[in-house]
Amino acid sequence: MKLGISTCLLGTMCRYDGGHSKDKFIVNELGKYFEFTAFCPEREIFPTPREAIRQVKINDEVKIKTSNTNIDVSEKIEDISKKIINTIQEDELCGYILKSKSPTCGMGKVKIYPNKKNGQSENVGVGIFANELKK
Ligand code: SF4
Repeated sequence: MKLGISTCLLGTMCRYDGGHSKDKFIVNELGKYFEFTAFCPEREIFPTPREAIRQVKINDEVKIKTSNTNIDVSEKIEDISKKIINTIQEDELCGYILKSKSPTCGMGKVKIYPNKKNGQSENVGVGIFANELKK
């Protein structure tokens, strides 16, 4: 059976900081029973390492911005997420494992920041890719 998975969970060094988020249970245990099809939406459009991105609430909308340079990359992330989802339709996946807390892959409790420096974040967001996947 095939499972989709966030690439960094398999140990691939595709995180913004050049690291990975390898999950030994997934790799060593689930790996015995499932075939993984991995996707990293951010790596498709940005280099690694790269500036971190985060969700920012602007009026009633949530945008994705680079953490330090404050560049709006929402459209890029949304576009690549939709493209990947389109290819996934052909893959006959029976499920998907998503990296927690990521502004792209997080299934829930993703931090949303106010549109100002040093503001308090709330853990209520959903990653852009995860949201498309749920749809
Ligand atoms: S975009 Fe997803 S797969 Fe890529 S590094 Fe971030 S959490 Fe991992």
